[in-house]
Amino acid sequence: MDRARLAVDYARRHRARFVDELCELIGFPSVSSDLRRKSDVERCAAWLADHLRRIGLADARVWRTSGHPLVWARRQGAAGAPTILIYGHYDVQPEGSREAWQTPPFRGTLRGDHLYGRGASDDKGQLFTHIKALESYLATSELPVNVVVLLDGEEEIGSPGLIKRMQQGSDALAADLIVISDTRIPSPERPALTYALRGNLQLELGVSGPARDVHAGYFGGSAPNPLQHLSGLVARLHAPDGRVAIDGFYRRVRAITPEERAYLVAVGPPDSAIVKTQGSPPARGDPGYSLYERTTARPGLTVTRVSTDGAGGPAAIPSRASARIDIRLVPDQQPTEIAELFRRWITGARDEGLRASVRLVAATPWVELPRRGAVPAAAAAAYQNAFGVQPVFLRSGGSIGVVSAFQRLLGIPIVLMGFGLPSDGAHGPNEKFHLPTFIRGLETSIWFMRNIGAIGGQQPR
Ligand SMILES: [Zn+2]
Repeated sequence: MDRARLAVDYARRHRARFVDELCELIGFPSVSSDLRRKSDVERCAAWLADHLRRIGLADARVWRTSGHPLVWARRQGAAGAPTILIYGHYDVQPEGSREAWQTPPFRGTLRGDHLYGRGASDDKGQLFTHIKALESYLATSELPVNVVVLLDGEEEIGSPGLIKRMQQGSDALAADLIVISDTRIPSPERPALTYALRGNLQLELGVSGPARDVHAGYFGGSAPNPLQHLSGLVARLHAPDGRVAIDGFYRRVRAITPEERAYLVAVGPPDSAIVKTQGSPPARGDPGYSLYERTTARPGLTVTRVSTDGAGGPAAIPSRASARIDIRLVPDQQPTEIAELFRRWITGARDEGLRASVRLVAATPWVELPRRGAVPAAAAAAYQNAFGVQPVFLRSGGSIGVVSAFQRLLGIPIVLMGFGLPSDGAHGPNEKFHLPTFIRGLETSIWFMRNIGAIGGQQPR
């Protein structure tokens, strides 16, 4: 019998245990942004390395970085066959307010068709599809390809350790292509390959005034107020029609072709579906574009937080106020250039007695991947094998910093083979993963390895 078939049969027989193991993995509060949980992140890495060894990846190990560790493993399954680098991340976002969770965030809990818990979808559940696909092959025969497994403990904080390692050059990461499952599909019946990610620019806009917080009674009416000036600036970031008002912001935005637009309108989620997930009618902005286009193919600017440093309380004029600005970028906008345009725009809006400043917190370039070629074709065929339908090709509005780093530093084809659903609630309370999609995801991974193996010795492109 076909080796992939044997692996699929094995996976179906062991699905209950696979889900139990995923629950165990969710049990580690591996929050990378919280230093108090450093040892939890490390315990999670050790668990994964041990798990990989137990399923047959004998040389699996934990790689130290200056931050959280990476988990690495390699197996030469088929001499002459291509090598797939399987990337996933085991770190998670903070759980937020515990009261908002119906079950404890770090205890995998089954309810109906869903597994609940922080990281269930992003990304522990999705990376586990590949681990269980590897096990299904190794328990029944041998891998049809060579693999490098790379599990990141710092994706949610920008993957600094991994990027440093890649910049130094590492033979241990040599591969012909990369597969990443950390994106979404529109519905369980509608798989999708993501071919574009927006870039991200995180800026902090600060306004400083009085040397310290001052009494609003003695000084109100005369002292310049950083918070009010900041509020004015924030209010002017968008024009009345909703477009971003910064001079030159749209200058480099590449218009998508009429053919691509027609395709995206046909396959992308309708406005009504997006409004339903958002729970509210659309904000104004970018007239003439569908909501799906606005959130994927067009840039956006969002104010996510406004705060004062002042300890002076509600009856004081704060000495400093700041706002966090989240900008999503599309081809061909450059993060550094947009940061500079923003800075210039702010400097032009000066107010007496106040100093405005812009600090660049983080910058991630946008990514666009080819939709044609042997690798996307192998991925599309794998979805067809497991889901029974061809996947659609979609743009994502999100950003995955490590993808542009892979593109820049390794320069090999990348497949974004997602299994998350829009309703999974990644990063929010009650995050969940749809178990039938988990099983189909792991079957997709099995078929993907088979399809890539079938390409044979020539370089897949
Ligand atoms: Zn993720």
